[in-house]
Amino acid sequence: MSDVKALTLDGETRQLDEAALDDLRGRVRGELIFPGDPNYDDTRQIWNAMISRKPSIIVRCSGTADVMGAVKFARQHRLLASVRGAGHNIGGMSLQDGAILIDLSAMTSVRVDPEGRTAVAGPGATLGDVDHETQAYGLAVPVGINSTTGIGGLTLGGGFGWLSRSCGLTIDNLVGAEVVTAAGERIKCDASHHDDLFWAIRGGGGNFGIVTAFEYQLHPVGPEVMSGPIVFPFDQAKHILGAYRAFCAGCPDELTVWAVIRDAPPLPFLAEEVHGQRVLILVALYNGDMAAGKKALAELRNLGQPIADGFAPHPFVGFQQAFDPLLTPGARNYWKSHNFTQLSDELIDCLVDYGARLPSPQSEIFVAQVGGAINRVATDATAYPHRDVEFVMNVHTRWEDATDDDGCVSWAREFFAATQPFATGGVYVNFISEGEDRVAGAYGVNYDRLSRVKATYDPDNFFRVNQNITPG
Ligand SMILES: Cc1cc2nc3c(=O)[nH]c(=O)nc-3n(C[C@H](O)[C@H](O)[C@H](O)COP(=O)(O)OP(=O)(O)OC[C@H]3O[C@@H](n4cnc5c(N)ncnc54)[C@H](O)[C@@H]3O)c2cc1C
Repeated sequence: MSDVKALTLDGETRQLDEAALDDLRGRVRGELIFPGDPNYDDTRQIWNAMISRKPSIIVRCSGTADVMGAVKFARQHRLLASVRGAGHNIGGMSLQDGAILIDLSAMTSVRVDPEGRTAVAGPGATLGDVDHETQAYGLAVPVGINSTTGIGGLTLGGGFGWLSRSCGLTIDNLVGAEVVTAAGERIKCDASHHDDLFWAIRGGGGNFGIVTAFEYQLHPVGPEVMSGPIVFPFDQAKHILGAYRAFCAGCPDELTVWAVIRDAPPLPFLAEEVHGQRVLILVALYNGDMAAGKKALAELRNLGQPIADGFAPHPFVGFQQAFDPLLTPGARNYWKSHNFTQLSDELIDCLVDYGARLPSPQSEIFVAQVGGAINRVATDATAYPHRDVEFVMNVHTRWEDATDDDGCVSWAREFFAATQPFATGGVYVNFISEGEDRVAGAYGVNYDRLSRVKATYDPDNFFRVNQNITPG
């Protein structure tokens, strides 16, 4: 008798015998990793070190057939399963104690058709993998701002970053997908095949099946783009945020500007005496003509008296990695997020007040400018419902030592509560932290339709380790 104990869909613990495990080995080309194996702890670790859960078996899938085999095995034994791309989900939605982990992180291929301007990405590809392959042809799909994030989870939640105001969300550029269903069968979905499923995976997360290939349309971008940070002393924060609001109101879609309150990082473009000082940083990218970008960014320079100015032409791929040193895996993280349609004076006061009292040197308040092309898509055109939002605030509370957990988490919750009166009540599904009950806010007006699609493709709620939609 083996000593592999797995959690069932009914919440019971089941011991899996050698015959069952041999059956699984026969179905999968990739590696199976069990508790006690030398690489078990390293392999189960995800980006957020706050979360440490122990799956019963890790199935390192090599391809779609492995995913089908793992799903069929789990179904046959009624086992709880979780799904992991690159493991960046802040709430640790890819891991559950006792569940079989269907790990896609080895499926990193990205194939580009430069003539057709499309790319097909495997579900384990990171944003860096996608940028690397597409930028070889001067092309890009809009994704997020940290290159080690997984394309899988990011796409299924929506996906936004520096190119989204000009080119839309990641899902607005998804043209088709290959999905392994809850029955372990592979189907393709796009605008004319399983269009209900295609609608649902564009914002409905991992509720409907396991996507084993994402096909995107691409846009010409760069290879150099006017971009960079401009850094202001924190005592100018209130004035700059007010001016930022006015600037954003007239901002062309090509330009995206995010505001960040944090301690100045020890990066070479900042003088040493500035390192560690509280600052307000405007980070911008202009996706278009270099001269027009220079002109647009020049206006930002005049908003106050900056300490440092890094606006310049940068390689797009490099800029996509610019935040990576501040977002490395292994730290403890607790995020809180709100959507805003505007930055009111009271909200700005609140940002400055809590920004002055960040709970740790690595914590930051991020205000991402969205809108533009994102908001020209109808609310019911895809499952992502937040098409009226102009700013997404994400509070990256981040620290190293577990003894700081209480102080950091309490600060984040207090700040979240203080800013709640100004928020829409909706939330980007990919920014929901562990223990938050925000499913209604994540799927908004599209929930009922999502629930009906769930009933069609996953009536038993096999895919339930996620921001879960109940079959309707
Ligand atoms: C440092 C950092 C920066 C970020 N920046 C941005 C940003 O700029 N823009 C943005 O939009 N988001 C951003 N995010 C959020 C990011 O979109 C989510 O964390 C997303 O879940 C990451 O995808 P993943 O594949 O790495 O996640 P995982 O943790 O591997 O997966 C998360 C969940 O997604 C589902 N899932 C993943 N892949 C599949 C699949 N192929 N099929 C079915 N279900 C699947 C599963 O339910 C899984 O539990 C950031 C996150 C981090 C940690």
